[in-house]
Amino acid sequence: MFVPEMMVPALKELANAFEKYKDEEEFKKELNYLLKEFAGRPTPLYFTKNISNELGFRIYLKREDLLHSGAHKINNTLGQGLLAKRMNKKEIIAETGAGQHGVATAITGALLGMPVKVFMGEKDVERQKLNVYRMKLFGAEVVPVTSGSKTLKDAVNEALRYYLTNVETCYYLIGSVVGPHPYPKIVQHFQEIIGKETREQILKKEGKSPTAVVACVGGGSNSIGIFSAFIEDEVKLIGVEAGGNEEKHGKTLGEGSVGIFQGSKSYVLQTKDGQILEAHSISAGLDYPGVGPVHSYLKDSKRAAYGSITDSEALEALAYLSRKEGILPALESAHAVAYVMKNKEKFKKSDIVIICLSGRGDKDVAQLMGGGFLE
Ligand SMILES: *Cc1c(COP(=O)(O)O)cnc(C)c1O
Repeated sequence: MFVPEMMVPALKELANAFEKYKDEEEFKKELNYLLKEFAGRPTPLYFTKNISNELGFRIYLKREDLLHSGAHKINNTLGQGLLAKRMNKKEIIAETGAGQHGVATAITGALLGMPVKVFMGEKDVERQKLNVYRMKLFGAEVVPVTSGSKTLKDAVNEALRYYLTNVETCYYLIGSVVGPHPYPKIVQHFQEIIGKETREQILKKEGKSPTAVVACVGGGSNSIGIFSAFIEDEVKLIGVEAGGNEEKHGKTLGEGSVGIFQGSKSYVLQTKDGQILEAHSISAGLDYPGVGPVHSYLKDSKRAAYGSITDSEALEALAYLSRKEGILPALESAHAVAYVMKNKEKFKKSDIVIICLSGRGDKDVAQLMGGGFLE
């Protein structure tokens, strides 16, 4: 927890509330009801006949893309939204870069009858018009942030400032396993449902554990969500970061160094003097210079391995999965698919590989069209 002194009491209150409610029967019942009836859990673990045949081993997709809102982020926003209610907070705030977390939070606020304010850099508001409009449709207020580089890190600063002045009434809902303790722990907890379901499903379908579980890593929530259930098993855990292009990328674990960023100590993309570098990826959800501390731990302890995939490899995988299986993955998730395609020689016929398909690609269609993809 690396935060200003002023923020410590609020984080302690949050940690206490989380520990109190997470195992409470009423809380779990309400959350499970919403996950099932509102969000659409459990999601299928789908066997891909066509690409399995072509690549030469058994490939399953955990279909988080089929959730309401189109991605895994809603597992976390529903959990934290209910927590905010239990804590008697009157308002939810969030910050968002690409807008996906903002949309999931706006949906949750509408469902739970709580007003939502989403802080967003002015540049991102301009770049992510569709998601801004979606947030507004769900009744959220989008606050454009005009300071600094007018992107995510400035939105985080503004959200923090607002939070510190309204700490009694306001719940700050963080979207990945990042930020100061207890946030990484809370977000992981609410995403662990992905792994729990996957483990049960694969044991039922195959009668044994998979060879490997592969997931993309932005902040690291969908990946730790699916990894967590397999940590004790003899299963390869592989995280895939944004390799970007020749000039810029988001390989935080691959090329970053240990530093303090947004309240926690972890690998981070920074200069020798500790200035945070800008990250790049074709997928806005992986375009982040930090990563959750749990992944730094899994990397250093060698329990998980981390690779990277470039923008063009991700695009190729998106097209491949769409044509071969009729499933359009989010650009983020396409990184995990691309990793498996690229490393197919490493797997043998009897191997079982599970890919976490964190989201659907409909949100990326306008960007693909604008970039002249397929032409
Ligand atoms: C936000 C997002 C990600 C990256 O976030 P993680 O916290 O690393 O999971 C990945 N996939 C999709 C579809 C997203 O929306």
